[in-house]
Amino acid sequence: FMQELERLRDQPAVTTDGFLVNLLTNTGLLADATPGLQRGAEGVGLYRSEIPFMIHDSFPTEQEQFGLYHKVLKAYAPRPVNMRTLDIGGDKQLPYFDISESNPYLGWRGIRFTLDNAQLLISQIRAMLRADVDNGNLRLLVPMVSRVDEMQSFRRYVEKAVDALNRDGHPVRMPEIGMMIEVPSAMLLLPRLAPYVDFVSIGSNDLTQYLLAVDRNNPRVSNLFDHLHPAVLVALEQIHQQCEALHLPVSLCGEMASDPAAVLLLTAMGYSTLSLSAYNIPRIKLLLRSVSRESLQPLLEQTRQCNSETEIRALIAPLLETVG
Ligand code: PEP
Ligand code: MG
Repeated sequence: FMQELERLRDQPAVTTDGFLVNLLTNTGLLADATPGLQRGAEGVGLYRSEIPFMIHDSFPTEQEQFGLYHKVLKAYAPRPVNMRTLDIGGDKQLPYFDISESNPYLGWRGIRFTLDNAQLLISQIRAMLRADVDNGNLRLLVPMVSRVDEMQSFRRYVEKAVDALNRDGHPVRMPEIGMMIEVPSAMLLLPRLAPYVDFVSIGSNDLTQYLLAVDRNNPRVSNLFDHLHPAVLVALEQIHQQCEALHLPVSLCGEMASDPAAVLLLTAMGYSTLSLSAYNIPRIKLLLRSVSRESLQPLLEQTRQCNSETEIRALIAPLLETVG
């Protein structure tokens, strides 16, 4: 098994007709760095910085964060690492900072929380920039963006941090800044957000939750939570087309990138960067290497006529059986 993994690690995730997909990994724990590298991740598509915050017993200091981020950037250098700023709130709570709300998914989450706690945001940005100095592979990613002024403010914080650190003798550079598309308003405002972002990463878990108004963690409605819902697929096609027109690189980093049926449709749409759990990389790579993108186009066309995720899954199932 390990030999099989090693053989696959060095092979590209390319379809039989030459469409190359970059497979990156999602992480948050240092312990995840090794599995990602063993499975040939071409970088970290999503570093969930809230995970180390959640296992601490108080807010980590800038210096503590620096140590942590440095290890992750170093483990992957020169491959890119997309470090997302703190995304707490919603279902992610800190043991030492209570955010109790009656509607947490619509509340103090992600960039909303960090812009309201600017010192925390600044310490995180500074730690990431400093950790990048000897590695040069940092990219910043902003969670839960729903307004243009959030990206404007975030960019200003990064520019100020770069200036302040440079003045203090730290040779930090301005990294590329990306935003997560997880909220429908960010998707609808893409052309207006584009001047403030260098790239886009789709969080399919939250985008599905907010497009369908279905709680991603509520078992009572889990039968309604599916990233193959036709509305989600319409949204994903639209985002891809808009990003192309705007020359914005786009990737997808939710659970959808681990679902073989979804990966076939994303490939047909033209998505060429996916980020997923390291453990799923070999499976998805084998799948991509066994299909032609050309053959997926009629499948995508047929799904455009479907009115439910059940129909869509039924359409894709026979193909998955032959390639899987
Ligand atoms: C997502 O929402 O799809 C995502 C990748 O972010 P998280 O799962 O951490 O909310
Ligand atoms: Mg999310």
